[in-house]
Amino acid sequence: MKKINLTLIIAFLLALISGCSTWSPVEGAYYHGKYGNINSNIGVRFMGVSTLTITDGHSHIMIDGFFSRQSPLGYCKNDMETQKSKVRPQLEKLKLPHLDALFTSHAHFDHILDTPIVLDYFHKRTLIERKTPTKMFGTQASKDYISENWKGQFSDCEKNQSQPCFSKLEDGGTYDVGNFVVTAIETPHVEKKFPVNVFEKIFTCFKRDKNLIKDFPNYSFLITLKTDTQRQTPDDRTTPPKILIIPSANISEDDLDGINADIVFLGIGLLKPKNVEHYWNQTIGKVNASLVVPIHWDNLYRSLDERLVSGPNIFVKTDKVIKELERLAKQSKQTKLSYFNVFDKVTLPRFEQ
Ligand SMILES: [Zn+2]
Repeated sequence: MKKINLTLIIAFLLALISGCSTWSPVEGAYYHGKYGNINSNIGVRFMGVSTLTITDGHSHIMIDGFFSRQSPLGYCKNDMETQKSKVRPQLEKLKLPHLDALFTSHAHFDHILDTPIVLDYFHKRTLIERKTPTKMFGTQASKDYISENWKGQFSDCEKNQSQPCFSKLEDGGTYDVGNFVVTAIETPHVEKKFPVNVFEKIFTCFKRDKNLIKDFPNYSFLITLKTDTQRQTPDDRTTPPKILIIPSANISEDDLDGINADIVFLGIGLLKPKNVEHYWNQTIGKVNASLVVPIHWDNLYRSLDERLVSGPNIFVKTDKVIKELERLAKQSKQTKLSYFNVFDKVTLPRFEQ
C-alpha cells in the first residue's frame, strides 16, 4: 500500500512538473573550439552536471562520474544503485584508451553515483597501458561509498601497487597526474534549502540517504599542464589554458585569492538569481577568466541520451541565473560565456599572457 501511495505521489509530481517550462542554450551559444587564437592540445568533454574529462591526448582525467541518470520512477525501481547496463554504453562513447585519475568533488549522488563502475571499467586497461592503475581522489565519504560499491579493494597509496589506491584530498593539495597538475581547493557546497531537500528525497524515492548526502567537504579543481609542448615559435606568447572547475555553486571570500584561470567551468546548480553577482565577483572576477562555461544547470532526472534541459522553473530559476551571467559577462568585456554540448569533443584555446 505504501509503495502504491509513493508511486502515485511521484506520478502526480511528474505530471505537474512536466508542464513547467525549462531552459537550454540556444544553438549559437555552444562552444565549437574556435575561441581565441591557436587551439591548445587540451580537450574537454562535458557529460552533464559536473562530469567532465580533460585530456592532452596522453594523460586523461575525469572529474566526478554520474552517467546513469534516471527518472524518479527509475530510481525507485532500482533502489538508487549504480547500473552497469546504463553506465557502460556512456563510457564507451568516450573512447578513452585509459583513465589516469578520477577526482570526485563530494559524495552527492549526482557527482559520485557511477564512479565505482567508472573505476571498474578503466582500472585494468589503465594498468596494462600505463603500468599503473587509475588513481582515485576525493573525500572520506566518497571513499566509503566507492569502497562499498566497487568489487575490488583499494591498495595502500604509499606502496607501489598494481591495485588502485584512493587518496584523500586536502585543501591546497597538488596532485601530479601524467602531464597535468591538479590542485584541490576546498570550497563550500551550495546551500540546499528545505523544499529542495524534500523534492530530492521524493525524486530519489527516499533511497538517497544511504551514503550520498554528506555535504562536507567539497572541492573545486585547478588543472594545469606541466609543460607546453604546443608552443609554435620562440616568440609565441600564448600558453595552454589554466582550467578551474567549480562543481558546487558557492564560494567563500578568500577561496580563490591569488589564483588565475583562463577557463572556468562554473557550477550553477541551485544558485539563486540574487546571489549570481556576488558569486561571479568571487570566482570569475578573482581569477580573471576569459571563458566561462556554466555546468550543473541540467535536469538530473533525464538520460544523457536526451537533449539536456534545465530543471523545471518551479524548482530552479536557471533562465534568470543565465540572464544575470550574460549581463555580467557583457559588463566585464573580457569574459565570454559559452556552453558545451554533451559528449562534444571540445579543444580548448590557448591564451595570450
Ligand atoms: Zn552536491
